[in-house]
Amino acid sequence: MRRIRELMAEPLEPQARLDQIVKLIARNMVAEVCSLYVLRADSVLELYATEGLNPGSVHLAQLKLGEGLVGTIAATARALNLSEAQNHPAFTYLPETGEEIFHSFLGVPILRAGRTLGVLVVQNKAARNYREEELEALETVAMVVAEMIAAGSLEGLSRPGVVLDLSRPVSFTGIPLSEGIGLGHVVLHEPRVVVTNLFNENGETEVDRLTVALGFLRSSIESMLSRRDVAGEGEHRAVLEAYRMFANDRGWVRRLEEAVRNGLTAEAAVEKVQSDMRARMMHMTDPYIRERLHDFDDLANRLLRQLIGRDDLIDGIKDAVIVARSMGAAELLDYRRDQIRGLVLEEGATTSHVVIVARALGIPVVGQAKGAVSMAENRDAIIVDGEDGGVHLRPPPEVEAVFGDKVKFRARRQERFRSLRERPAVTRDGVPIHMMMNAGLLVDLPQLTESGAEGIGLFRTELQFMVASTMPRTSDQQRLYSAVLDAADGRPVTFRTLDVGGDKVLPYLSQSPEENPALGYRAVRLSLDRPGLMRTQLRALLKAAAGREMRIMFPMITDVFEVHQARDLIEREIDHLRRFGHVVPEVLKVGAMIEVPALLFQLDALMEAVDFVSIGSNDLFQFFSAVDRGNARVATRYDDLSKPFLGALKAILDAGNRHGVPVTLCGEMAGRPLSAMALIGLGFRSISMSPPAIGPVKEMLTSLDAGALAAEMEAHMRAPGAASSMREVLVRFAETHAIPY
Ligand code: PEP
Ligand code: MG
Repeated sequence: MRRIRELMAEPLEPQARLDQIVKLIARNMVAEVCSLYVLRADSVLELYATEGLNPGSVHLAQLKLGEGLVGTIAATARALNLSEAQNHPAFTYLPETGEEIFHSFLGVPILRAGRTLGVLVVQNKAARNYREEELEALETVAMVVAEMIAAGSLEGLSRPGVVLDLSRPVSFTGIPLSEGIGLGHVVLHEPRVVVTNLFNENGETEVDRLTVALGFLRSSIESMLSRRDVAGEGEHRAVLEAYRMFANDRGWVRRLEEAVRNGLTAEAAVEKVQSDMRARMMHMTDPYIRERLHDFDDLANRLLRQLIGRDDLIDGIKDAVIVARSMGAAELLDYRRDQIRGLVLEEGATTSHVVIVARALGIPVVGQAKGAVSMAENRDAIIVDGEDGGVHLRPPPEVEAVFGDKVKFRARRQERFRSLRERPAVTRDGVPIHMMMNAGLLVDLPQLTESGAEGIGLFRTELQFMVASTMPRTSDQQRLYSAVLDAADGRPVTFRTLDVGGDKVLPYLSQSPEENPALGYRAVRLSLDRPGLMRTQLRALLKAAAGREMRIMFPMITDVFEVHQARDLIEREIDHLRRFGHVVPEVLKVGAMIEVPALLFQLDALMEAVDFVSIGSNDLFQFFSAVDRGNARVATRYDDLSKPFLGALKAILDAGNRHGVPVTLCGEMAGRPLSAMALIGLGFRSISMSPPAIGPVKEMLTSLDAGALAAEMEAHMRAPGAASSMREVLVRFAETHAIPY
């Protein structure tokens, strides 16, 4: 090890260094042969250096992945220790190397972060079994070579055009979770700690360092386990208990110590043991084992950070694409927004909190990109396509050029939308439309000015609760609501009270599992039963609006009675505030969301009980058609532009008009130009959507003749026997009138 360390420090050309390394290994292991094979992008293992085989075969001898002993080691990421190599079924003889005279064979994979980069082999003429220590030593040298390969020092040693596997372009197809295209460089969220200090000076002190770090690791797990919020049963606890078990796993600790005794630093030992384990377990398909592998990875990363501290790589990267297995929303907010171009997750779904936040920040996200973490290296070039779910790692120049054009095209479109910002939202025939935006976090607020929205039509207050790891205090809530009203600067803001339950889970609020969470104990149902939670929120809202206008709306109302109950709670809070001398809102408006079809049959009573209504078309459509909005197999089976659904929306609008109660719509429908057009045709004059949708919808409506569309739609809605969906009628109308949709 000492000699290897000296060799690494000598000012040698990469090929000379490799030649020296194989020579040194052969001498130390009393082997006649030592050879190094490197995996190329075309899945071929090429001989890069040899001591003992025909030197003329260097860069010429090659084996395919899976072919021969070397190919088998690379493909399985497992070492082979054979006293009679020729007897192994995979043995293939390469005539150019002259290796027929060697009987015993020891080969180890060159691994980095669980990826195979090559194979290191020793051979002897005599039939012999290599000892366990020899295997360990060879594996340790392989790790040094892995660092050389990863550092790019072996590029260019072979014939021109040869690309190493490590720099091979790879594409993944995941699912698009947040719109946009990001070009940049990889930043691994759980940084693959770059272990630069490989060799220890003194084995004993290094074992001590390792022992201390392991002690810290164990006690941090114990203290997490004793925290109140994980003390109960549940997923969190199960994961932490697995961690505890692994952190005390004797086999793991023994392998770590062994690696240190073989000359590695504590951190290099963690990296080596983890890399071996990952490579072996990667091939297993059992989901349980793979999950445990993730646990081990997390643990190893924790230990590494304990040993060397966090790598502040992000500081040097201005166009970071964060690559992570999964991530909490708060962790994303730890990064500086202006440094992030995209996010790639191996897990993640539309409703993941981190995705909600990324969307609010306008960061393109692709989820379910399996394998991205282990294939990516920090600083690799990468493209995230939030439109079709593609992730392109180390893209070739042609791919980069295509995406460069795509980004330019999008930027031009964005520019066009920006130029519409100051333009009033009025249809071509002079009908003004109130365009509002949906929001939920502080980070959304700049969009209010940038998008040109008239106000906030839906403020999802649950997002603050979802991104926090503990329940936000009343003062935190009040601070957020005040900040929102300050930013709105007199523009209307409609706050929706907590809509948790269903798919919106708060980790710190215990809820029993439900068979049908969407139909379960959620939103106002939960809030009315737990008046403590609701009253705290109402108090924060009312205090935040002191002397200003406050608009409060309740989600998932099913029965008008619930509106009365909720109003009573508001009254009680106002009384309370007055009694204690607080300034109450100057104007208070109370509304209900229409998301449950039962309300369609109590519209008159509802309109009498509220100051406004807002249609949550996402949920209303889900319940109206009995299709789970998150289930891709059914979610698009029925059309929200169908006559029955549009008819329901029209009935709500008519009831609002009868009672002089404003009706708006704040589901995703409002943000799609074609469906927004349909809404205007039905008679909607106020809609609320996510900020990026404002430009495209405004572009649509400024070229729309609302009167002509209303007439066309009415004729079709009434026509008997015609197709149920109005989509075609609407598309035809848009096309014949040159309306961008
Ligand atoms: C809706 O259901 O349409 C809505 C706006 O609420 P959310 O999407 O938050 O459920
Ligand atoms: Mg809803």
